Amino acid sequence: MKPLTTTTIGSFPLPPGIEEFKRSLKLQVEAGVDYPALPQLEDFCEIFLRDIAERGKGLKRQGEQYVLVGPIEPPREPSIVQEAVLAINTLKEMGVQGRLKVQVTGPLTLSSLVKFLDKNALAYPDIVESFADAIGEIVACACSHEEVEVAFIDEPMTYYALWSGYEDKFVVNCLNRALRKVPKGVERGIHICGDARGLHRVTLNLDVDVIHHEVAGSPQNLDAYTPSNLVQSGKMLGIGVVTVKPLDERVRIEEVEEIEKLMVQAAEKYQGKVVFAPDCGFKGLLEALPIEQAVQVVYEKLSNMVKASAKLKERFAR
Ligand SMILES: [Zn+2]
Repeated sequence: MKPLTTTTIGSFPLPPGIEEFKRSLKLQVEAGVDYPALPQLEDFCEIFLRDIAERGKGLKRQGEQYVLVGPIEPPREPSIVQEAVLAINTLKEMGVQGRLKVQVTGPLTLSSLVKFLDKNALAYPDIVESFADAIGEIVACACSHEEVEVAFIDEPMTYYALWSGYEDKFVVNCLNRALRKVPKGVERGIHICGDARGLHRVTLNLDVDVIHHEVAGSPQNLDAYTPSNLVQSGKMLGIGVVTVKPLDERVRIEEVEEIEKLMVQAAEKYQGKVVFAPDCGFKGLLEALPIEQAVQVVYEKLSNMVKASAKLKERFAR
């Protein structure tokens, strides 16, 4: 990703369906987002767990949860591949060539939702590693078309995995293992929401080009990295510049000036080595709003983010 460009995290407040999928892409293109994300209209964990359970090996659905029943193997043709093709064609119809971002859910997060014996599978390092390999295959397949330019791993459980006793090194190796088959030429990123302070011990050692955290809703995350460490690492920081959660059943749409102020602050601090996105996915808006209103809110937030980034690009070009 070029510095100061925009993308999204992936989830949208629409029910699953082909028309809704296309609409979520159009929404991003019409708002002017530089790297539109492959829309996720279902839960970001369910998508991959179900795919492994139904088309791969090792997982079984039992009632409301997934249970490990053997060695994890990825689906031979992951459903994300067809989605990527649909997204590429939809973008082409709108005159957009390439620039697609895909995202997969990380091994720590996926294994935390699977039961093995009486425990959570996240407690077993070898199971976590097998999820890393499976997700590694899935993301590599998703990147098989040249229009896919960016691949992110979403790993909200990183903090919990460290807190529960995993060493930094294990977590780093595991995440790198999940990303190792991403083809050269595709940029890699990680998204971790929540408090990012202290996570630099892991994130700065990952084979990624972009590290994204929420900042609009968690302003302290702007201090999670020292400028020199970030610049030395050669990575870019992805800054969440608009919130995605309703506050007191109210959804606030940030003004362009407010977003620009945050962007300037981040860009100055990290010497322009920043890109922008919302704090997280937008699915949560449905808790506070009916679908059409939620979609309108997403459009307004994204287009204000894009307008602010355009102003920032001008300012930095001077
Ligand atoms: Zn998130």
